[in-house]
Amino acid sequence: MSIFKAYDIRGIYSSEIDERVAYLIGAAFGTLNPGKIAVGCDTRLSGPQLKEHFINGVISTGSEIIDIGVVTTPIVVFAITHFNCDGGVNITASHNPKEYNGFKLFDANAMPISYESGIGTLKEIFERENYRKGNGSSSTLAIKVKEDYINFILALTLARVKIGNRLSVVIDGSNGAAGLYAPEIYRRLGMTVNELNCTADGNFPGHDPDPSKEENLLDAKSRVKEAGADLGFVYDGDGDRLAVIDADGKAIESSRIFSLLVKHLLEEKPGAKIVHDALMSGMAIDTIKKSGGSAIPCRVGHTYIAQKMMEEAAELGGELSGHYYFKETFFADDAILASLKVIELISQGGERLSELIKDFPDYVSENIRISVKESEKFSFIAQLKVELEKEGYVVDCLDGVKVVFENGWALFRASNTEPKISVAYESRDKEEYNKIKNFVQSIIKKVPQ
Ligand SMILES: [Zn+2]
Repeated sequence: MSIFKAYDIRGIYSSEIDERVAYLIGAAFGTLNPGKIAVGCDTRLSGPQLKEHFINGVISTGSEIIDIGVVTTPIVVFAITHFNCDGGVNITASHNPKEYNGFKLFDANAMPISYESGIGTLKEIFERENYRKGNGSSSTLAIKVKEDYINFILALTLARVKIGNRLSVVIDGSNGAAGLYAPEIYRRLGMTVNELNCTADGNFPGHDPDPSKEENLLDAKSRVKEAGADLGFVYDGDGDRLAVIDADGKAIESSRIFSLLVKHLLEEKPGAKIVHDALMSGMAIDTIKKSGGSAIPCRVGHTYIAQKMMEEAAELGGELSGHYYFKETFFADDAILASLKVIELISQGGERLSELIKDFPDYVSENIRISVKESEKFSFIAQLKVELEKEGYVVDCLDGVKVVFENGWALFRASNTEPKISVAYESRDKEEYNKIKNFVQSIIKKVPQ
Protein backbone atom coordinates (compact mmCIF):
# COMPACT_ATOMS: atom_id res chain seq x y z
CA MET A 1 0.00 0.00 0.00
CA SER A 2 1.41 3.41 -0.96
CA ILE A 3 2.17 5.95 1.80
CA PHE A 4 0.67 8.67 -0.42
CA LYS A 5 -3.00 8.72 0.66
CA ALA A 6 -6.08 10.75 -0.26
CA TYR A 7 -5.68 13.30 2.56
CA ASP A 8 -2.10 12.90 3.81
CA ILE A 9 1.10 10.82 3.69
CA ARG A 10 1.03 8.02 6.26
CA GLY A 11 2.73 4.71 7.04
CA ILE A 12 4.53 2.56 9.57
CA TYR A 13 7.81 3.80 11.04
CA SER A 14 10.39 2.66 9.98
CA SER A 15 9.39 -0.02 7.45
CA GLU A 16 7.38 2.42 5.29
CA ILE A 17 8.55 5.85 6.47
CA ASP A 18 12.11 6.23 7.77
CA GLU A 19 14.58 9.13 8.05
CA ARG A 20 15.62 8.86 4.39
CA VAL A 21 12.00 8.94 3.20
CA ALA A 22 11.35 11.92 5.51
CA TYR A 23 14.31 13.78 3.96
CA LEU A 24 13.07 13.07 0.42
CA ILE A 25 9.49 14.06 1.26
CA GLY A 26 10.96 17.30 2.67
CA ALA A 27 12.85 17.86 -0.60
CA ALA A 28 9.71 17.08 -2.62
CA PHE A 29 7.58 19.43 -0.50
CA GLY A 30 10.19 22.22 -0.86
CA THR A 31 10.08 21.65 -4.63
CA LEU A 32 6.26 21.60 -4.80
CA ASN A 33 5.58 24.42 -2.37
CA PRO A 34 8.67 26.64 -1.88
CA GLY A 35 9.00 29.58 0.52
CA LYS A 36 8.68 29.95 4.28
CA ILE A 37 7.33 26.71 5.78
CA ALA A 38 6.06 26.10 9.35
CA VAL A 39 6.89 22.57 10.57
CA GLY A 40 5.73 20.81 13.72
CA CYS A 41 5.20 17.27 14.98
CA ASP A 42 2.92 15.42 17.37
CA THR A 43 4.17 13.37 20.35
CA ARG A 44 5.09 10.17 18.46
CA LEU A 45 8.45 8.61 19.37
CA SER A 46 9.68 8.88 15.76
CA GLY A 47 8.60 12.56 15.54
CA PRO A 48 11.88 14.34 16.44
CA GLN A 49 14.11 12.38 14.03
CA LEU A 50 11.58 12.43 11.17
CA LYS A 51 11.18 16.18 11.68
CA GLU A 52 14.95 16.78 11.65
CA HIS A 53 15.37 14.88 8.36
CA PHE A 54 12.25 16.42 6.80
CA ILE A 55 13.59 19.90 7.68
CA ASN A 56 16.99 19.09 6.14
CA GLY A 57 15.19 17.95 2.99
CA VAL A 58 13.24 21.20 2.73
CA ILE A 59 16.39 23.27 3.39
CA SER A 60 18.22 21.45 0.57
CA THR A 61 15.73 23.00 -1.85
CA GLY A 62 16.40 26.57 -0.67
CA SER A 63 13.27 27.06 1.43
CA GLU A 64 13.11 28.57 4.91
CA ILE A 65 11.82 26.56 7.86
CA ILE A 66 10.11 27.76 11.03
CA ASP A 67 10.21 24.91 13.54
CA ILE A 68 7.11 25.29 15.74
CA GLY A 69 7.77 22.33 18.08
CA VAL A 70 5.23 19.78 19.29
CA VAL A 71 1.85 21.00 18.08
CA THR A 72 -1.69 20.03 17.15
CA THR A 73 -2.51 20.15 13.44
CA PRO A 74 -4.75 23.25 13.88
CA ILE A 75 -1.71 25.01 15.38
CA VAL A 76 0.15 24.45 12.08
CA VAL A 77 -2.73 26.22 10.33
CA PHE A 78 -2.58 29.03 12.93
CA ALA A 79 1.21 29.36 12.48
CA ILE A 80 0.95 29.60 8.67
CA THR A 81 -1.39 32.60 8.93
CA HIS A 82 0.24 34.11 12.04
CA PHE A 83 3.79 34.07 10.66
CA ASN A 84 2.75 34.70 7.05
CA CYS A 85 4.13 31.40 5.82
CA ASP A 86 3.87 29.90 2.34
CA GLY A 87 2.88 26.50 3.68
CA GLY A 88 3.09 24.16 6.63
CA VAL A 89 3.49 20.54 7.63
CA ASN A 90 2.60 18.54 10.70
CA ILE A 91 4.46 15.28 11.21
CA THR A 92 1.67 13.15 12.64
CA ALA A 93 -0.38 10.03 12.08
CA SER A 94 -3.41 11.65 13.74
CA HIS A 95 -5.42 8.98 15.61
CA ASN A 96 -3.46 5.92 14.31
CA PRO A 97 -1.66 3.56 16.74
CA LYS A 98 1.90 4.33 17.84
CA GLU A 99 3.66 2.37 15.08
CA TYR A 100 2.49 4.91 12.48
CA ASN A 101 3.68 8.35 11.49
CA GLY A 102 3.09 10.65 8.55
CA PHE A 103 2.79 14.14 7.09
CA LYS A 104 -0.23 16.47 6.88
CA LEU A 105 0.53 19.18 4.33
CA PHE A 106 -0.86 22.72 3.97
CA ASP A 107 -0.51 25.39 1.27
CA ALA A 108 -0.04 29.18 1.49
CA ASN A 109 -3.78 29.66 2.20
CA ALA A 110 -3.39 27.24 5.14
CA MET A 111 -5.59 24.83 3.20
CA PRO A 112 -4.91 21.10 3.65
CA ILE A 113 -3.33 19.54 0.54
CA SER A 114 -5.12 16.42 -0.77
CA TYR A 115 -3.90 13.83 -3.27
CA GLU A 116 -5.62 15.77 -6.07
CA SER A 117 -4.43 19.19 -4.96
CA GLY A 118 -0.75 18.33 -4.45
CA ILE A 119 0.14 14.98 -2.85
CA GLY A 120 -0.11 13.30 -6.30
CA THR A 121 2.38 15.80 -7.77
CA LEU A 122 4.60 15.47 -4.69
CA LYS A 123 4.64 11.70 -5.24
CA GLU A 124 5.79 12.23 -8.85
CA ILE A 125 8.61 14.55 -7.71
CA PHE A 126 9.57 11.94 -5.08
CA GLU A 127 9.58 9.08 -7.61
CA ARG A 128 11.52 11.00 -10.26
CA GLU A 129 13.91 12.45 -7.64
CA ASN A 130 13.49 15.71 -9.44
CA TYR A 131 14.21 18.18 -6.62
CA ARG A 132 14.98 21.88 -6.51
CA LYS A 133 18.45 22.75 -5.21
CA GLY A 134 19.28 25.63 -2.89
CA ASN A 135 20.55 26.77 0.48
CA GLY A 136 17.67 27.20 2.88
CA SER A 137 17.64 27.98 6.59
CA SER A 138 15.86 26.99 9.76
CA SER A 139 14.84 28.81 12.96
CA THR A 140 12.79 27.80 16.00
CA LEU A 141 9.70 29.61 17.22
CA ALA A 142 8.22 26.83 19.38
CA ILE A 143 7.87 28.90 22.58
CA LYS A 144 6.44 31.90 20.77
CA VAL A 145 3.89 29.85 18.81
CA LYS A 146 2.64 28.24 22.03
CA GLU A 147 2.13 31.61 23.74
CA ASP A 148 0.60 33.20 20.66
CA TYR A 149 -1.78 30.29 19.97
CA ILE A 150 -3.00 30.18 23.58
CA ASN A 151 -3.58 33.95 23.50
CA PHE A 152 -5.36 33.64 20.16
CA ILE A 153 -7.75 30.97 21.48
CA LEU A 154 -8.29 32.90 24.73
CA ALA A 155 -9.12 36.04 22.74
CA LEU A 156 -11.79 34.08 20.83
CA THR A 157 -13.22 32.64 24.03
CA LEU A 158 -12.65 34.91 27.07
CA ALA A 159 -15.50 37.32 26.52
CA ARG A 160 -17.88 34.43 25.84
CA VAL A 161 -17.25 32.12 28.79
CA LYS A 162 -18.91 33.16 32.03
CA ILE A 163 -15.92 33.03 34.35
CA GLY A 164 -18.00 33.30 37.54
CA ASN A 165 -19.59 29.99 36.66
CA ARG A 166 -16.54 27.95 37.56
CA LEU A 167 -16.83 24.60 35.80
CA SER A 168 -14.86 21.46 36.33
CA VAL A 169 -13.56 19.59 33.28
CA VAL A 170 -11.68 16.37 32.61
CA ILE A 171 -9.15 16.79 29.79
CA ASP A 172 -7.89 13.55 28.24
CA GLY A 173 -5.06 14.48 25.88
CA SER A 174 -4.50 10.83 24.81
CA ASN A 175 -0.76 11.58 25.46
CA GLY A 176 -0.86 13.53 22.18
CA ALA A 177 -0.30 17.19 21.36
CA ALA A 178 -3.61 18.70 22.58
CA GLY A 179 -2.75 17.79 26.20
CA LEU A 180 0.17 20.24 26.04
CA TYR A 181 -2.16 23.18 25.35
CA ALA A 182 -5.75 22.52 26.48
CA PRO A 183 -5.19 22.35 30.29
CA GLU A 184 -3.46 25.75 30.37
CA ILE A 185 -6.22 27.35 28.29
CA TYR A 186 -8.93 25.92 30.55
CA ARG A 187 -7.10 27.04 33.72
CA ARG A 188 -6.66 30.54 32.36
CA LEU A 189 -10.42 30.62 31.81
CA GLY A 190 -10.93 29.89 35.50
CA MET A 191 -11.95 26.23 35.14
CA THR A 192 -10.98 23.40 37.44
CA VAL A 193 -8.96 21.02 35.27
CA ASN A 194 -8.60 17.32 35.88
CA GLU A 195 -5.78 16.10 33.62
CA LEU A 196 -5.72 12.62 32.15
CA ASN A 197 -2.97 11.48 29.75
CA CYS A 198 -1.82 15.09 29.24
CA THR A 199 1.91 14.33 29.19
CA ALA A 200 3.59 13.88 25.81
CA ASP A 201 4.23 10.14 25.42
CA GLY A 202 4.44 8.46 22.03
CA ASN A 203 3.92 5.05 23.61
CA PHE A 204 0.33 6.20 24.30
CA PRO A 205 0.29 4.42 27.69
CA GLY A 206 -3.25 5.57 28.53
CA HIS A 207 -4.94 4.36 25.33
CA ASP A 208 -4.66 4.72 21.56
CA PRO A 209 -5.12 8.36 20.52
CA ASP A 210 -8.44 7.66 18.77
CA PRO A 211 -11.54 9.08 20.51
CA SER A 212 -13.88 7.58 17.90
CA LYS A 213 -13.39 4.19 19.61
CA GLU A 214 -15.47 3.61 22.71
CA GLU A 215 -12.66 1.76 24.53
CA ASN A 216 -10.50 4.89 24.41
CA LEU A 217 -13.13 6.90 26.29
CA LEU A 218 -13.31 4.63 29.35
CA ASP A 219 -10.68 6.55 31.41
CA ALA A 220 -12.38 9.88 30.81
CA LYS A 221 -15.86 8.51 31.51
CA SER A 222 -14.90 7.11 34.89
CA ARG A 223 -12.79 10.16 35.82
CA VAL A 224 -15.74 12.51 35.09
CA LYS A 225 -17.90 10.51 37.47
CA GLU A 226 -15.24 10.14 40.19
CA ALA A 227 -14.38 13.84 40.11
CA GLY A 228 -18.01 14.99 39.78
CA ALA A 229 -16.89 17.03 36.75
CA ASP A 230 -19.29 18.94 34.49
CA LEU A 231 -17.76 17.64 31.26
CA GLY A 232 -14.97 15.51 29.81
CA PHE A 233 -13.10 16.01 26.55
CA VAL A 234 -10.96 13.41 24.77
CA TYR A 235 -8.70 14.66 21.95
CA ASP A 236 -6.97 12.61 19.26
CA GLY A 237 -3.18 12.53 18.75
CA ASP A 238 -3.01 15.77 16.73
CA GLY A 239 -5.89 17.67 18.32
CA ASP A 240 -8.37 17.84 15.43
CA ARG A 241 -10.84 15.19 16.59
CA LEU A 242 -12.92 15.35 19.76
CA ALA A 243 -15.17 13.19 21.92
CA VAL A 244 -17.39 14.82 24.55
CA ILE A 245 -18.41 13.13 27.81
CA ASP A 246 -21.34 14.51 29.82
CA ALA A 247 -21.59 14.84 33.61
CA ASP A 248 -23.09 11.34 33.87
CA GLY A 249 -19.99 9.84 32.20
CA LYS A 250 -21.78 9.22 28.92
CA ALA A 251 -20.19 9.84 25.50
CA ILE A 252 -22.37 12.15 23.39
CA GLU A 253 -22.70 11.37 19.66
CA SER A 254 -20.87 13.80 17.39
CA SER A 255 -24.08 14.59 15.48
CA ARG A 256 -25.62 15.86 18.73
CA ILE A 257 -22.57 18.03 19.54
CA PHE A 258 -22.59 19.38 15.99
CA SER A 259 -26.35 20.11 16.22
CA LEU A 260 -25.71 22.06 19.44
CA LEU A 261 -22.92 24.11 17.81
CA VAL A 262 -25.18 24.71 14.78
CA LYS A 263 -28.13 25.92 16.88
CA HIS A 264 -25.97 28.26 18.91
CA LEU A 265 -24.20 29.69 15.86
CA LEU A 266 -27.45 30.36 14.02
CA GLU A 267 -28.88 32.19 17.04
CA GLU A 268 -25.89 34.55 16.82
CA LYS A 269 -25.50 34.61 13.04
CA PRO A 270 -28.86 33.99 11.38
CA GLY A 271 -28.67 32.51 7.89
CA ALA A 272 -25.01 31.45 8.25
CA LYS A 273 -23.56 28.85 5.89
CA ILE A 274 -22.63 25.51 7.45
CA VAL A 275 -20.74 22.72 5.67
CA HIS A 276 -21.37 19.08 6.65
CA ASP A 277 -19.96 15.83 5.33
CA ALA A 278 -21.99 13.30 3.34
CA LEU A 279 -22.20 11.02 6.39
CA MET A 280 -23.65 13.64 8.75
CA SER A 281 -26.86 12.69 10.49
CA GLY A 282 -30.16 14.21 9.41
CA MET A 283 -30.38 15.40 13.02
CA ALA A 284 -27.79 18.11 12.34
CA ILE A 285 -28.93 18.84 8.77
CA ASP A 286 -32.54 19.32 9.95
CA THR A 287 -31.27 21.56 12.78
CA ILE A 288 -29.42 23.74 10.25
CA LYS A 289 -32.54 24.05 8.09
CA LYS A 290 -34.98 24.56 10.98
CA SER A 291 -32.76 27.22 12.50
CA GLY A 292 -32.65 29.15 9.22
CA GLY A 293 -29.10 28.28 8.19
CA SER A 294 -27.80 27.20 4.83
CA ALA A 295 -26.67 23.52 4.84
CA ILE A 296 -23.90 22.80 2.34
CA PRO A 297 -23.09 19.08 1.81
CA CYS A 298 -19.51 18.06 1.05
CA ARG A 299 -17.38 14.97 0.43
CA VAL A 300 -16.01 13.25 3.53
CA GLY A 301 -12.44 14.30 4.47
CA HIS A 302 -10.81 17.33 6.08
CA THR A 303 -9.21 18.52 2.85
CA TYR A 304 -12.61 18.80 1.13
CA ILE A 305 -14.46 20.33 4.09
CA ALA A 306 -11.87 23.07 4.70
CA GLN A 307 -11.70 23.90 0.97
CA LYS A 308 -15.50 24.06 0.68
CA MET A 309 -15.74 26.27 3.75
CA MET A 310 -13.19 28.69 2.31
CA GLU A 311 -14.98 28.81 -1.07
CA GLU A 312 -18.33 29.46 0.61
CA ALA A 313 -16.99 31.60 3.49
CA ALA A 314 -18.90 29.21 5.76
CA GLU A 315 -18.90 29.84 9.52
CA LEU A 316 -18.93 26.23 10.71
CA GLY A 317 -18.24 22.74 9.41
CA GLY A 318 -18.70 19.27 10.84
CA GLU A 319 -17.89 15.65 10.09
CA LEU A 320 -19.56 12.68 11.73
CA SER A 321 -16.12 11.39 12.73
CA GLY A 322 -15.90 14.15 15.39
CA HIS A 323 -14.20 16.97 13.47
CA TYR A 324 -15.60 20.51 13.90
CA TYR A 325 -14.30 23.33 11.71
CA PHE A 326 -14.48 27.07 12.37
CA LYS A 327 -14.07 30.20 10.28
CA GLU A 328 -12.22 31.74 13.26
CA THR A 329 -9.50 29.08 13.05
CA PHE A 330 -8.98 29.67 9.30
CA PHE A 331 -11.34 26.77 8.51
CA ALA A 332 -9.29 24.25 10.51
CA ASP A 333 -10.91 21.54 12.63
CA ASP A 334 -9.65 22.76 15.98
CA ALA A 335 -10.82 20.29 18.65
CA ILE A 336 -9.66 22.56 21.50
CA LEU A 337 -11.84 25.41 20.22
CA ALA A 338 -14.74 22.95 19.66
CA SER A 339 -14.53 21.85 23.31
CA LEU A 340 -14.43 25.50 24.42
CA LYS A 341 -17.60 26.23 22.43
CA VAL A 342 -19.36 23.48 24.39
CA ILE A 343 -18.03 24.93 27.68
CA GLU A 344 -19.19 28.36 26.61
CA LEU A 345 -22.78 27.13 26.23
CA ILE A 346 -22.77 25.35 29.59
CA SER A 347 -21.25 28.35 31.37
CA GLN A 348 -23.73 30.80 29.87
CA GLY A 349 -26.91 28.89 30.56
CA GLY A 350 -25.83 27.08 33.71
CA GLU A 351 -27.52 23.98 32.30
CA ARG A 352 -26.11 20.48 32.04
CA LEU A 353 -25.05 19.27 28.59
CA SER A 354 -27.73 16.56 28.69
CA GLU A 355 -30.36 19.32 29.08
CA LEU A 356 -29.00 21.32 26.14
CA ILE A 357 -29.13 18.40 23.71
CA LYS A 358 -32.29 16.66 24.84
CA ASP A 359 -34.55 18.21 22.21
CA PHE A 360 -32.61 16.90 19.21
CA PRO A 361 -34.59 13.88 18.00
CA ASP A 362 -33.07 10.39 18.01
CA TYR A 363 -32.10 8.87 14.68
CA VAL A 364 -31.48 5.17 14.11
CA SER A 365 -28.38 4.47 12.06
CA GLU A 366 -25.95 1.76 11.12
CA ASN A 367 -22.66 1.56 9.27
CA ILE A 368 -21.67 -1.73 7.62
CA ARG A 369 -18.75 -2.81 5.43
CA ILE A 370 -18.88 -5.26 2.55
CA SER A 371 -15.73 -6.97 1.27
CA VAL A 372 -15.02 -6.66 -2.47
CA LYS A 373 -11.87 -7.07 -4.56
CA GLU A 374 -9.61 -4.00 -4.30
CA SER A 375 -9.65 -3.65 -8.11
CA GLU A 376 -13.45 -3.79 -8.19
CA LYS A 377 -14.51 -1.37 -5.47
CA PHE A 378 -15.04 1.62 -7.77
CA SER A 379 -16.74 -0.46 -10.48
CA PHE A 380 -19.03 -1.84 -7.76
CA ILE A 381 -20.17 1.71 -6.94
CA ALA A 382 -20.64 2.48 -10.66
CA GLN A 383 -22.71 -0.70 -11.16
CA LEU A 384 -24.76 0.07 -8.09
CA LYS A 385 -25.62 3.48 -9.53
CA VAL A 386 -26.79 1.82 -12.74
CA GLU A 387 -29.00 -0.61 -10.76
CA LEU A 388 -30.49 2.19 -8.66
CA GLU A 389 -31.29 4.32 -11.69
CA LYS A 390 -32.81 1.30 -13.43
CA GLU A 391 -35.18 1.00 -10.49
CA GLY A 392 -36.09 4.67 -10.65
CA TYR A 393 -34.23 5.98 -7.60
CA VAL A 394 -32.79 9.48 -7.70
CA VAL A 395 -29.13 9.23 -6.70
CA ASP A 396 -26.78 11.87 -5.37
CA CYS A 397 -23.15 11.30 -6.44
CA LEU A 398 -21.40 13.96 -4.34
CA ASP A 399 -19.48 11.26 -2.46
CA GLY A 400 -20.07 7.65 -3.52
CA VAL A 401 -23.76 7.03 -4.21
CA LYS A 402 -26.47 8.33 -1.88
CA VAL A 403 -30.18 7.55 -2.05
CA VAL A 404 -32.42 9.95 -0.15
CA PHE A 405 -35.80 8.73 1.13
CA GLU A 406 -38.57 10.75 2.68
CA ASN A 407 -37.37 10.03 6.21
CA GLY A 408 -33.82 8.82 5.81
CA TRP A 409 -30.96 7.94 3.48
CA ALA A 410 -28.42 5.30 2.49
CA LEU A 411 -24.87 6.09 1.36
CA PHE A 412 -22.53 3.65 -0.43
CA ARG A 413 -18.81 4.57 -0.65
CA ALA A 414 -15.65 2.75 -1.69
CA SER A 415 -13.22 2.66 1.26
CA ASN A 416 -10.02 4.72 0.82
CA THR A 417 -7.90 2.28 2.75
CA GLU A 418 -9.41 -1.22 2.45
CA PRO A 419 -10.91 -3.51 -0.23
CA LYS A 420 -14.38 -2.72 1.09
CA ILE A 421 -17.59 -0.84 0.38
CA SER A 422 -18.87 1.13 3.33
CA VAL A 423 -22.63 1.53 3.62
CA ALA A 424 -24.21 3.99 6.07
CA TYR A 425 -27.95 4.40 6.49
CA GLU A 426 -30.26 6.12 8.92
CA SER A 427 -33.80 7.23 9.58
CA ARG A 428 -35.72 9.11 12.24
CA ASP A 429 -38.34 6.44 12.19
CA LYS A 430 -37.67 2.83 13.25
CA GLU A 431 -40.11 1.41 10.69
CA GLU A 432 -38.60 3.43 7.85
CA TYR A 433 -35.13 2.44 9.09
CA ASN A 434 -36.00 -1.25 8.75
CA LYS A 435 -37.29 -0.62 5.22
CA ILE A 436 -34.03 1.16 4.28
CA LYS A 437 -32.00 -1.67 5.79
CA ASN A 438 -33.90 -4.23 3.69
CA PHE A 439 -33.48 -2.02 0.63
CA VAL A 440 -29.70 -1.89 1.21
CA GLN A 441 -29.45 -5.66 1.48
CA SER A 442 -31.53 -6.33 -1.64
CA ILE A 443 -29.87 -3.73 -3.87
CA ILE A 444 -26.37 -5.01 -2.97
CA LYS A 445 -27.40 -8.50 -4.16
CA LYS A 446 -28.43 -7.05 -7.53
CA VAL A 447 -24.96 -5.67 -8.31
CA PRO A 448 -23.26 -8.08 -10.73
CA GLN A 449 -19.88 -9.21 -9.27
ZN1 LIG B 1 -6.37 13.93 13.94
